[in-house]
Amino acid sequence: MEIDDPQRMSTEIKRIAEFFGADLCAVTEIDDRWHYETRVDTRDMSEAPNHLPSGITHVIVLGHEMGAELVATYPSALAGAATGREYSHEAAIVMQVAAYIRNLGYEAIASMNDTALVIPYALKAGLGEYARNQIVITPEFGPRLRFSKIFTSLPLYSDQPKKLGVAEFCNICTKCADACPVKALPFGPPNVSTQSSSIKGVRKWTSDAEKCFGFWAKMASDCAICMRVCPFNRDFSKWRHKLWLKFALSPCCRFALALDRHIGARVKPSTW
Ligand code: SF4
Ligand code: SF4
Repeated sequence: MEIDDPQRMSTEIKRIAEFFGADLCAVTEIDDRWHYETRVDTRDMSEAPNHLPSGITHVIVLGHEMGAELVATYPSALAGAATGREYSHEAAIVMQVAAYIRNLGYEAIASMNDTALVIPYALKAGLGEYARNQIVITPEFGPRLRFSKIFTSLPLYSDQPKKLGVAEFCNICTKCADACPVKALPFGPPNVSTQSSSIKGVRKWTSDAEKCFGFWAKMASDCAICMRVCPFNRDFSKWRHKLWLKFALSPCCRFALALDRHIGARVKPSTW
């Protein structure tokens, strides 16, 4: 199919993504800085090249909301179902959207956590803003999202990154870093990390991944306390939370932080 209006095609793809069940969708250009150099060949666990076909120009980034009731129980094995369910949903959704694009006559490679980092792509596509807890915070679902992506040669119109005001809020809030049981999250301003598991040369808030995942391994379960306690972990379909968001992303963010007292308390898994 000839595409003479990439902007219209982007609108169509967003509608198709929503039809297949994506909660958010945006488009950006390909950027090799965020791609893994190699991948694992699972036949013999050796290192294999991580090439995409030529002609790929854009990345479609999809967001998938995690269930708030399960996120409220972090850390727990039960809460892991909030993550697992969205991985299952996104696997189906990215394959359906990619098949749609291929049937128009273009390349489309469906991708979950493989091939490239999705967080920089979600930020570049304007879906949200990066936060101290290492998560993309969105105005629709706060931090309660998984992301997937599709690499494509379909001519599309790119969205732009958005400065929402999340970083300003994180500058005055350390709730996630305070709540982290192993103190894996930073307290100060964004920095260029020298830690062995971190991407090099990017100034950002960076966790101590060894401490964080060491805690997961010790529990033999899932921890995302830093997602649960985040003041942006709210139901923004409710007017009072919408109003809170307006304050939080404005110069009144200190007032919004002061109003946050009751957000993020842990619910026992047995309650669910
Ligand atoms: S997932 Fe848990 S251990 Fe890791 S940074 Fe968040 S709160 Fe800390
Ligand atoms: S808990 Fe506070 S500092 Fe941490 S990500 Fe959320 S808003 Fe930012």
